[in-house]
Amino acid sequence: MRKLLMIPGPIEYESNVLNAMSLPTISHSSPEFISIYREALQNVSTVFGSDVTDSLPFIISGSGTLGMEVSTVNFIKRDSKVLVVNTGYFGDRFVELFSRFTDKIEQIRPPLGEASEPGVIKEKLETNEYEMMTVTHVDTSTGVRNDVRKIAEASRGSETLLVVDGVCSVGGEEFDMKWGIDVAFTASQKALGTPPGLAVGVAGKRALERMANVKPLTFFSDLRKWEAVSRGVLASNGGYFGTPNVNLITALGVSLSNILNEGMEKRIARHRLMSSALRAGIEGMGLEIMAKKSFANTVSAVYLPEGADSKKFLSDAEKMGVVFASGLIRGIAGKYFRIGHMGSINSTEVLLSLSAIERALNKGGKNIRTGSGLIAAEEVLLKSD
Ligand code: PMP
Repeated sequence: MRKLLMIPGPIEYESNVLNAMSLPTISHSSPEFISIYREALQNVSTVFGSDVTDSLPFIISGSGTLGMEVSTVNFIKRDSKVLVVNTGYFGDRFVELFSRFTDKIEQIRPPLGEASEPGVIKEKLETNEYEMMTVTHVDTSTGVRNDVRKIAEASRGSETLLVVDGVCSVGGEEFDMKWGIDVAFTASQKALGTPPGLAVGVAGKRALERMANVKPLTFFSDLRKWEAVSRGVLASNGGYFGTPNVNLITALGVSLSNILNEGMEKRIARHRLMSSALRAGIEGMGLEIMAKKSFANTVSAVYLPEGADSKKFLSDAEKMGVVFASGLIRGIAGKYFRIGHMGSINSTEVLLSLSAIERALNKGGKNIRTGSGLIAAEEVLLKSD
């Protein structure tokens, strides 16, 4: 039976993207591929809101975690002082990454479900000298969205490099490097709409200036190596460090064209509408969403009713044809589940998901009024039709 994949990445992919994956693999140094790669880099730049003339887009084989590494180790030296704005599991991952090369790590940790306060960040930056600050735009473990635009405003004027993990946001949430972001990255499998396997990002002018004085301890994630590749490809000459994933980059190119053909504004508005319909449905059936106010438009974390068995719920929903993800936060992972709603998300997928949630919970003995979630979601959708 065909299942609907509603986890926060990988997601459902458009058929033209999947078809591109299956084209014969061409030489990575052929003019044909260099042209595909060049256009993909230019479109990455556009989607991130950056300008190729003064920043560096990169596409590297690997996952989002490689993006985290590339976006940090290249710009700061050993023992640098850093600040992690931590709103969940992937904030913890930044702490773990930094701990490999510095002990001077400070964190801002809002209560679970809440976003960070730009004012608190501003105060921290005024009284401390951090080389770098990281923010997870949307933490996929909690569905909380930080206000990156306001955080960038709050950090304006400071010497601290602002690095944004856009893995669960770029392509689905409003995002613009011009807000004052120094480095940002995502991974192919989420709102960019391409199967897993690529770390995709942009390093801005100020970050590139800092990079000149840093020799990273790692080799594959040395951005200077990839800079030569990106610059060579953008100049149509090509370049080699590690063999590029020809088929995935070809598929990414198709997906980026889909995104730009839809138009960023329309795409973000669609994500907003689909997520608000989904949240209305969730609340309509009496369930609670983890994010208190700052909801992500790409993923929702939802508390299960008291006493529900999360494994059984996920397995029942899957038997009904919809795959959701389990909780991720240590200690409460079994008390909630996550729904991904990004990329090509549409109203049919939202309604199917809500129906599966209602039925799976009822099957598990929880008394959810049949149709309560669907009615609430349909009301939101109808208003916009
Ligand atoms: N950051 C965020 C916000 C993520 O959601 C993820 C993956 N879910 C990562 C980083 C790590 O990405 P990957 O699993 O592709 O290594």
